[in-house]
Amino acid sequence: MKITLGPSNPSKAFPRLVESLSGEDLSKCYQCGNCTGGCPVSFAMDISPSQVIRMVQLGQEEAVLRSNAIWRCVSCLQCFSRCPKCVDLSRIMESLRRLSLRRGYEPVSVKALPDEFIRRSPQMALVAGFRKLVP
Ligand code: SF4
Ligand code: SF4
Repeated sequence: MKITLGPSNPSKAFPRLVESLSGEDLSKCYQCGNCTGGCPVSFAMDISPSQVIRMVQLGQEEAVLRSNAIWRCVSCLQCFSRCPKCVDLSRIMESLRRLSLRRGYEPVSVKALPDEFIRRSPQMALVAGFRKLVP
């Protein structure tokens, strides 16, 4: 993904907000890429886990909150276990999902799911899936 930085687009408040919601210190990340290397679902993300944290550091609010990566994360903690700086990316991803919902971005519409899919899916799978959609 190409990122164009300029004086008007980076949000200085955004990284501070993510830090306060996640409890993580973004400045600890030095972009080694270990998190991306171990993430089991990075292949399905439009931006990788290490790119997510870098873009948050740079205040790329709109691009991060509209990415599918924050919704693909399954909070498995593989990245945390591999991070030399003990950055818990799963907490950062969770805070980004909350902010995305607060901004009104709708990653999945319940109404858009086919009736047959809802009828055949285990109730617990649906409940677990939509847990992410609670801000
Ligand atoms: S493993 Fe940790 S330090 Fe390395 S890129 Fe990921 S979050 Fe940053
Ligand atoms: S917690 Fe999320 S970002 Fe980290 S390895 Fe697991 S799926 Fe990937």
